[in-house]
Amino acid sequence: VKMLEIKNLSARIGDKEILRGVTLSVPDGEIHAIMGPNGAGKSTLSYVLSGRDGYEVTGGEAIYNGQDILALTPEARAAAGIFLAFQYPVELPGVGNANFMRTALNAVKRARGEAELDAVAFLKLARAALKKLSMQDDMLKRNVNVGFSGGEKKRNEVLQMALLQPGLAILDETDSGLDIDALKIVAEGVNALRSETFSALVITHYQRLLDYIVPDKVHVLAAGKIVRSGGPELALELEARGYAGLEAA
Ligand code: ADP
Ligand code: MG
Ligand code: MG
Repeated sequence: VKMLEIKNLSARIGDKEILRGVTLSVPDGEIHAIMGPNGAGKSTLSYVLSGRDGYEVTGGEAIYNGQDILALTPEARAAAGIFLAFQYPVELPGVGNANFMRTALNAVKRARGEAELDAVAFLKLARAALKKLSMQDDMLKRNVNVGFSGGEKKRNEVLQMALLQPGLAILDETDSGLDIDALKIVAEGVNALRSETFSALVITHYQRLLDYIVPDKVHVLAAGKIVRSGGPELALELEARGYAGLEAA
């Protein structure tokens, strides 16, 4: 089964065409990397898939688990199992992390017609997830990302992802600005989710993250199109030779 199938997807912001016919499929259980130069449209692709405002789809399809997701609201996409990890996590002063995560999880449960979790049931679940990820409990008591180090923000995001148990995770440059320890945390969190019912698109400008999350396939996005696809060795080749010349491919 193809968890995600993107066919000839085009999109624009205002009157600027950014995606120009992206075709890409990620089978169940696979992790694919998307690399490419700055401005290629990598973030735009992740926003279009998650349904963010301001992006107009001008053609093509995105089928997730057999369903065309482009017509769905962002909430319905999240409920269907799509998770987007941001490059820059937001800080929410005055909002407790445990409450924030429980609200997000319950929104998904509600949309799926599942029973919501009360505070006690949530804490039990969250503690189990924390333990599995070798993280400390105190993270739940703090305000969302306020005063968190870069590494702690990433840990927090990995925790949220583990709790939501997405079918498809999209990580958009979650590695940018991270030291090697934080990078390993993100990688371990993603690797821990690897299963037949989990797929991921890992978007990164650099090869480094892919030493830890070994992708099944690597795709290069340049000027709004996939210009090359290959195995993990493609990432190493790009690291050595750069993106020069790929735009013209
Ligand atoms: P990448 O993530 O690969 O660096 P982006 O998807 O962020 O690329 O951007 C692709 C192109 O779209 C760039 O040329 C960028 O300047 C442009 N772009 C991104 N966001 C906006 C916006 N809100 N308004 C206008 N142009 C934008
Ligand atoms: Mg960029
Ligand atoms: Mg980007």
